[in-house]
Amino acid sequence: MTVKRICLLGATGSIGKSTLDLIAQHPGHFELFSASANSDVEGMLKLIQEFQPAQVCMRDEAAGERLSEQLRQLGQTKTELFIGRQGLNALAAHPSVDMVVAGIVGIAGLVPVWSAVSTGKSVLLANKEALVCAGELFVEAARQSGARILPIDSEHNAIFQCLGSAYRCFTRPESVRRLLLTASGGPFREWSLDAIRAATPEQAVKHPNWVMGPKISVDSATMMNKALELIEAHWLFAMPAEEIEVVIHPQSIIHSMVEFKDGSTLAQLGAPDMRTPIAHAMAWPDRIDSCVESLNWSQLRELQFEVPDNRRFPSLEFARQALASGPVASICLNATNEVMVARFLRGDCSFGAIFDEVEEGLNRFSGRFPVPTGLDDVMAIDTEVRAFYAH
Ligand code: NAD
Ligand code: MG
Repeated sequence: MTVKRICLLGATGSIGKSTLDLIAQHPGHFELFSASANSDVEGMLKLIQEFQPAQVCMRDEAAGERLSEQLRQLGQTKTELFIGRQGLNALAAHPSVDMVVAGIVGIAGLVPVWSAVSTGKSVLLANKEALVCAGELFVEAARQSGARILPIDSEHNAIFQCLGSAYRCFTRPESVRRLLLTASGGPFREWSLDAIRAATPEQAVKHPNWVMGPKISVDSATMMNKALELIEAHWLFAMPAEEIEVVIHPQSIIHSMVEFKDGSTLAQLGAPDMRTPIAHAMAWPDRIDSCVESLNWSQLRELQFEVPDNRRFPSLEFARQALASGPVASICLNATNEVMVARFLRGDCSFGAIFDEVEEGLNRFSGRFPVPTGLDDVMAIDTEVRAFYAH
């Protein structure tokens, strides 16, 4: 195995830390060539000292200046520092990089992911918002450059594993009858509608099974995460939305399933730890150790399944509506959700308002823009939707 050089976008986040842990476990196989963060100077400094990457980028300019000063004081000159948005693209497109881990949260990750895709890298995709917003354009860009997309969102990685090692993303698996995305149901699975609508940020970010960043944790609580994942699965596996179902599975042991035409259903199981799907994608088509604990079959008493309740959690229906009404709707759905989740986390709106505004946003914005024909159009629609909420 030759050493694979990795560009890790979103290195200081939850996906970033799991990836760093795997790189540290396998120094002969992987090297952290470059890493990016938004504003976490301390986190970036720590990883520079541990991994000595050739390049890093801070997206936030003030944070970049602070990091620059600290690196100077430490006499740390081996690492080249980029500051600002353009730096992210430079990192992702660098000719020495073999593999880009897309771990930035939100549509903020789309432009650098696009840069990786267009330069034909292997892209380990966690940043589902990028694919949700760019949809068919993303698929086309990957086809043209030959970039290999390896999903690390756990559900999509599970499906990818079930489809077998000959499967390549963006092609319809003809032998498949349907995809079954599992969902934990989030922290409010058993709550009444009234209680859900009044939930606080502290309650919403307390996921029962996974430790994740704040935005995806709120998305899990609204089930918007599963809604985005439905759109993500539609593009990754070229499957129509009607052939993708969501099953609530509170234990998060089965990470998703594929039902084939002959009636066989294959599932991928494991402890809820993102290092498993990331390790799978990093080593693909081989396998490496991840240090993830084994499932304890003497303690696992039951695996439960439920049908999603669209009345208390309408997000899945929003996603189906968005897919049915065309590419603009998914961008609007995502932008409205990002705006509302940020507001909710700041204490500026109720949990229930996220559902109301996302539904409203789908109707308000979707017919307003022409179908995007390139990355700039996608970003312009996102910017306009955000501008609506800025005042
Ligand atoms: P996080 O909040 O823990 O980390 C986000 C990372 O992105 C940080 O390094 C941050 O510095 C960087 N970042 C934030 N805003 C940025 C911006 N505007 N520009 C550039 N960089 C920015 O998030 P996370 O939980 O690691 O999630 C990252 C992505 O992975 C999301 O798209 C999420 O949906 C997906 N994902 C996460 C998990 C998980 O277990 N955490 C599982 C599946 C998918
Ligand atoms: Mg997931």
